[in-house]
This record gives sequence, structure tokens and C-alpha cells, in this order.
Amino acid sequence: MMKLILASNNKNKLREFKEILEPHGFEVISQSEAGADIEVEETGTTFEENAYLKAKAIYDMFCLPVIADDSGLEVDALNGAPGIYSARYAEEGKRCARVLSELEGVPDEKRTARFKCCICYIDASGEKHVVTGVCEGKIGYEKLGTNGFGYDPIFIYGDKSFAEISAEEKNKVSHRSDALRKFEEVIKGVK
Ligand code: IMP
Repeated sequence: MMKLILASNNKNKLREFKEILEPHGFEVISQSEAGADIEVEETGTTFEENAYLKAKAIYDMFCLPVIADDSGLEVDALNGAPGIYSARYAEEGKRCARVLSELEGVPDEKRTARFKCCICYIDASGEKHVVTGVCEGKIGYEKLGTNGFGYDPIFIYGDKSFAEISAEEKNKVSHRSDALRKFEEVIKGVK
């Protein structure tokens, strides 16, 4: 099996990527398992740039295939914010509240938003492949539900928030699963 490094130590991401990639002959290891004790600064201006920065830093250390991802929430009425700043938009636990207060008085039809997930893959020869997954929804008026993480309680998909549905239901429609499906097509073609 060909080794492939995930530019992250997040256990959920590692599991998801293993499920997709192992059937295609890749042994997926986390960056710490590879011996890369680094935190790459996300200085890019797009999800794609940040995913590439993370992947490239690890590729340059090992010259092995690498995948990295970057994701976040884009709210139309906030000109795409929090976007690439999703993880840093406010203190832990206060990010949903900040988005809700910034949308005060914004009517239903203008509360459109989407989650995006960009996956950057650098193959063994150093070539870059990028896919982006999207999930369209709306921002609600209060936090609903207790499942999930991050902005899930305010992201309304259909008539429920992402925090009101199960992980299985979310996985069928999420930006991350959309990106992973597209990525699986890439991996079939390159390796
Ligand atoms: P990163 O991709 O690990 O840098 O995380 C980006 C940030 O976007 C997370 O910290 C969350 O705040 C937000 N985010 C990304 N995906 C989701 C999701 O599926 N639900 C809720 N928030 C998310």
C-alpha cells in the first residue's frame, strides 16, 4: 500500500479519509504519525489556498502524497463571512451568537448560506489536485439542536438545523461528504 499523509491530527477527518482511500490502496496516516510536528499558518485568502498551504508544507518534508482540507461557513448577507475565518470568528462557544447578532433584522430570503469544504491532494509526483464540496442552506434565528459542532445549530438544511439531525443524515448531504465523493473520483484517475 502507498503511504499518504493527512495534514491534520483530527481523528474524525482521519477516519473519513481512511474509509475512502484504503479501498484504493492507500495507507492513510496523520501528520503526527508521519513525524511532522508543525502547525501551518493559514495565511491564504481562500479555502483552496489554505488547504494547499497545509498540504504543501507536509509534502515538502516527506515527498509523499498528502491531503489537506479547509472548510467553513459562507453567509451571503455578510459578504461571505465568516468564510476562511470560521474557526477564528469568535471565542469557542460564541461563534454562532456572533453570526446571529450580525443577521439581526435580515429577512428570511436574505439569510442564505453555505458550508464549503476544499480538499487539496498533492500526489507522489508533486502535482496538485483540488476539489470543493458545497452544502446550501440558510441561517436560522436561534441555536437549535445539540448534535454536531461549530455552526451546526444555526445552519438550517431543509426544515431542520444540522444539529437537529443525526451524523448519518448530515453525512449524506454535507459539504465534507460532497468533497469526499468528488475526491474519490480524482483518486480513481490518478494515484
Ligand atoms: P477547519 O476546516 O478544520 O479549519 O475548520 C473550519 C471551521 O469551520 C470549523 O472550526 C467550524 O467552525 C466550521 N465548520 C466546518 N465544517 C463545519 C460543519 O460541518 N459544521 C459546523 N461548522 C463547521
